[in-house]
Amino acid sequence: MTTYNIAVITGDGIGKEVMPEGLKVVQAAAEKFGLSLNFHHFDWGGCDYYLEHNRMMPENWKDIVGDMDAIYFGAVGWPDTVPDHISLWGSILTFRREFDQYINMRPVRTFEGVKCALSTPKANEIDFIVVRENTEGEYSSIGGIMYEGTDREVVLQQSVFSRHGTDRVLKYAFETAMRREAKDLTVATKSNGMAISMPWWDSRAEAVAQDYPEISWTKQHIDILSARFVMNPERFDVVVASNLFGDILSDLGPACTGTIGLAPSANLNPERKFPSLFEPVHGSAPDIYGKNIANPIGMIWSGALMLSFLTQDSGAGASAHDAIVTAIEKTLKGATLTPDLGGEASTQTMGDAILANL
Ligand code: ATP
Ligand code: MG
Repeated sequence: MTTYNIAVITGDGIGKEVMPEGLKVVQAAAEKFGLSLNFHHFDWGGCDYYLEHNRMMPENWKDIVGDMDAIYFGAVGWPDTVPDHISLWGSILTFRREFDQYINMRPVRTFEGVKCALSTPKANEIDFIVVRENTEGEYSSIGGIMYEGTDREVVLQQSVFSRHGTDRVLKYAFETAMRREAKDLTVATKSNGMAISMPWWDSRAEAVAQDYPEISWTKQHIDILSARFVMNPERFDVVVASNLFGDILSDLGPACTGTIGLAPSANLNPERKFPSLFEPVHGSAPDIYGKNIANPIGMIWSGALMLSFLTQDSGAGASAHDAIVTAIEKTLKGATLTPDLGGEASTQTMGDAILANL
């Protein structure tokens, strides 16, 4: 039997509260479906580790976690000890870049029992996936400020779109759509405003689409696409976007469905040359840390995505994923809910309820 090695980085704030819940449900699902997991724990982060070492992770972090099969990540950031940009660049963004996790994938859906933030007629039918390009595009550091401090000051910030980088995210999105019933893909663009990069991006989508005649796909400008996320979210199936547009859509999507505490995410290197990273969408939430009221579902669901990915989205991992999601669905219909869902349950009680339903 293959044993999967998983680096567990619990991090800061509510990461410390939700990770134990994630681990217990993931471990139980793995056992149930015959998957062998070996967890390796690292105490890296922006609190004690940063205070002691003046950095978020050790210098040789890449050697330490580079051979793992996946990274299960809580949340980092502790404003009292470490500035926000350091906690990001000192950990999560470094993983994305160094491990070439060029896909950021977020499932977005509504659940029976969870009040949706939207009141559109079909708000309960939201079920789509946002695929964001995670390594290039608009988020480059190329550019600069000219004539700084004068009236002639001019700022340039370049975008970088490579054919390699664009085709691979589009291909991943088409492949994702192929595995879904609706086989529908929306490609975010802004070719009527960004006159060079986006018409080119559209042409790459057309080229990649040639290999997927079964998929019905459309290009939509990011402005109206965002509006439709709010007005008709049920019409989406898979949505693919550049780094900037995807960043916005992948926050807007989960926000539309309800609490941020539910939302999972995956940072993927689909070729498995490097470990992929699975983390809840939410951050360390210092405002609720220590109260034991954090919703553990985002952490647990991210673990389900991890199991599915580890086994190439098939076999035991896919079954374990589906079993966890079913247990979440069942739990959300019940009365054991954390305060963000209108209940009074603690983080552990909610985790226990999901475990019991599994
Ligand atoms: P980051 O900077 O890492 O994106 P943030 O500080 O912007 O994080 P979060 O830490 O995600 O934001 O918190 C945003 C809000 O959502 C906070 O009010 C927090 O209490 C709430 N929140 C976040 N996660 C959860 C959760 N798991 N359960 C309940 N409430 C949560
Ligand atoms: Mg923050």
